[in-house]
Amino acid sequence: MPDRAAYLRAVFDAAPEAMVIIDERGRIEGFSPAAERQFGYPAADVVGRNVSLLMPSPYREEHDGYLHRYLTTGERRIIGIGRVVVGQRRDGSTFPMELSVAEARPSGRRIFVGFIRDLTEAQTTRARMQELQQELLHASRLRTTGQMAATMAHELNQPLTAAANYLRGAQRLLDMPQADLARVRDALSLAAQQALRAGDIIRRLRSFVARGEVQSRRESVNMLIEEASALALLGAKERSIHASHRIAADLPDVMVERVQVQQVLLNLMRNAIEAMDGMPRRELTVEAVAEGEDVRVSVADTGPGLPAEVAAQLFQPFVTTKPDGMGIGLSICRTIVESHGGRIWAEANPGGGTVFRFTLPRVADPA
Ligand code: ADP
Repeated sequence: MPDRAAYLRAVFDAAPEAMVIIDERGRIEGFSPAAERQFGYPAADVVGRNVSLLMPSPYREEHDGYLHRYLTTGERRIIGIGRVVVGQRRDGSTFPMELSVAEARPSGRRIFVGFIRDLTEAQTTRARMQELQQELLHASRLRTTGQMAATMAHELNQPLTAAANYLRGAQRLLDMPQADLARVRDALSLAAQQALRAGDIIRRLRSFVARGEVQSRRESVNMLIEEASALALLGAKERSIHASHRIAADLPDVMVERVQVQQVLLNLMRNAIEAMDGMPRRELTVEAVAEGEDVRVSVADTGPGLPAEVAAQLFQPFVTTKPDGMGIGLSICRTIVESHGGRIWAEANPGGGTVFRFTLPRVADPA
C-alpha cells in the first residue's frame, strides 16, 4: 500500500456512513465528513469534546458510566452488537440512527469507532417497509375490531329483545282493569334476568379482548422507551422534533410483553408528533418514574391539547379528529395497559399540549 495514512484518510473522508472515533474516555478524536452532515457540527467544533454531546438526555449523562462499565466489566450494550438509537443534531433536533461500534487497538491504545447510519435518510424502501408494516397492523386491528363489533351486536340482540318483550308484556298487564300483579312481577323478573345475561356477554367479550395471551418478561423501561422513540421518529414526517427522555436513575424493571408496551408507546408518541405538526414548539418528552408499586411513564407534547369532543370520550373506540384516522389507537392502548394491570389517563400539559400517562407494575426485586 503506497501511503497507508493517506489511504485510510481518503476512506474515512469518502465513506457514506458517518464515522466517529473516540478514545477510552469518550473524547472525540475523529469526525468524518458524513458525520458533519448528519449532526450539523464541523469536525473542528467537536474533536476533543465528549461524544455524549451527540445524544439526547438521559443517554448523554449516562454515557460516561456505560463506557466506564464496559472498560471495567466488559459488559456490552452496543459495542460489537449494534442497535437503533436516538441521536441529537447540533440544533437540538433528534433522529433515529443505526449505530454499530467497533473496538480497535492501534499501537496499544484502545479506541472505539462508531459507524452511524441516519435512518431518516435511509433508503425510501425502508420507509415503505415501515408503512406496509403499519398498514398490516392497521388492517388486522380493523378486522378484529370489526369482528368483535359484529359478534357483540349479534349476541346482545337476543337478551335485549327478550327483555324488551317481557317489559312490554308487563306494561300490557298493568294496563288491564284488574292487573294481575303476580304475573307482572314474573314478567319483570324475566326481564331482569335477560338484562343480566346481556351484562354477562359484555363481561365475556371484555375478558376475550384482554385474554391472558401476554407472554410477560422482565424488561428495562429505559430500553423499551429508547427503542420505541427511535421507531416513532422513524415514522415522523416532521424532522424538527426535539425528543428528550427523562428516566429516573435506578428505575425498577417491569414485567411486560415488550411488543405490546412498545405499541402503546409508539401510539402515544405518534399521536404527540402528529399533534405538534405545524406548531412553533415541537417538544416530545418521555418520562419514567417509580411510584409505589408501579412505574409511571408519561409522554408529553407541546401540541394544541385535546379537542373537547375527544377529551369527553377519551379511550373510546372510533373517536378521531383525523381525516384518515381510525380512532382506535387510544382504545387499544387502554386495553393493553389494563391487561398488564396498569392504568392510563391524560392531563393537560401545564406549558401547553397534552400529557398521556400510564402505569405498569414494577418487579419486586432489584435487578
Ligand atoms: P387516531 O390517531 O386514529 O385518530 P387515537 O385513538 O390514537 O386515533 O386518537 C384519537 C384522537 O385523540 C385523535 O384523533 C386526536 O384528536 C386525539 N389525540 C390523541 N392524542 C393527542 C395528542 N397528543 N394531542 C392532541 N390530540 C390528541
